[in-house]
Amino acid sequence: MLISIVAPCYNEEDVVERFHEEVQKVADELLPLGHDMEFVYVDDGSRDLTLAALKRIADRDSRVRYVSFSRNFGKEAALLAGLRHATGDSVVVMDADLQHPPGLVRRMVDLRAQGYDQVVAKRSRSGERISRTFTARLYYRFVNRLVDVELVDGVGDFRLLSRRVVDAVLGLTEYNRFSKGLFAWVGFPTATFEYENAVREAGRSSWSFRSLLNYGLDGVLSFNNRPLRAALYLGMALLVCAGAYTAWIVGAALVNGVETPGYVTIITAVTALAGVQMVMLGVIGEYTGRIYYEVKRRPHFLVKATNVERAKDLIP
Ligand code: UDP
Ligand code: MG
Repeated sequence: MLISIVAPCYNEEDVVERFHEEVQKVADELLPLGHDMEFVYVDDGSRDLTLAALKRIADRDSRVRYVSFSRNFGKEAALLAGLRHATGDSVVVMDADLQHPPGLVRRMVDLRAQGYDQVVAKRSRSGERISRTFTARLYYRFVNRLVDVELVDGVGDFRLLSRRVVDAVLGLTEYNRFSKGLFAWVGFPTATFEYENAVREAGRSSWSFRSLLNYGLDGVLSFNNRPLRAALYLGMALLVCAGAYTAWIVGAALVNGVETPGYVTIITAVTALAGVQMVMLGVIGEYTGRIYYEVKRRPHFLVKATNVERAKDLIP
């Protein structure tokens, strides 16, 4: 069986060589068991010498394929490129920063042999800032109410996929990709095991608070139109409240005569309603924006350099 390791690399010049050494060790362990390995490294438009490092690695090791983007297209695009150019019967997707322990690949391959199509490594959140653990927990509770696939906290992109899962994921051609959800959406028998969170070896995480926020929103909005429906319900609830309140005021006016005061009520009602309308418009705008990006049918990424024959056509 051929196993592909797919790793997106963005500004990982410090670790990518170490990463390759580590996965090579795994490959050496798996070879006697009848498993070949190939490595697909995607340089996501790094601004450092990641590409040079990848070329060096590829010169030394003929099992290495690399694809380098013309700019930073984001991890999702890098994952997509990696999956497209992986030829293995099983594909292991993992980060290049050694936060996903390569030693676990062996375990994944064992579970794959037991017939699971997806083997997922679930990260425990130990050693992380409490605030981040807390927000993550809160987020997953909220998001699972809204989306129809189940998104699990700590489950990320460190997973093994069988060929049919890879083909299914590649069949989803949407522009806005939320891989975590796409993998869950595809389904098939899935095994999950937990591992200890590792701290980053070198370089720095590219997640800022803002990018996490955007990622979180993508998770909610990429799957269905339930937020739109929620907006609809909220609007109807407000309408009912407004109706009841109007009836009450009119009733009071009929009984007690007209009283002019009501400044606070008016301001509160106007600002609250304006806020709610803005939020609803925002939700609609998000979906329209997504449609806009989808209909443009732009490629997910452009390739600048590669040693994969098939990907060379993509270089303009
Ligand atoms: N990555 C990428 N493109 C980006 C950002 C990140 O390919 O725009 C890669 C990065 O090189 C790493 C993986 O995605 O292999 C995870 O990124 P990071 O370590 O920054 O995220 P975290 O581990 O904090 O979730
Ligand atoms: Mg990382």
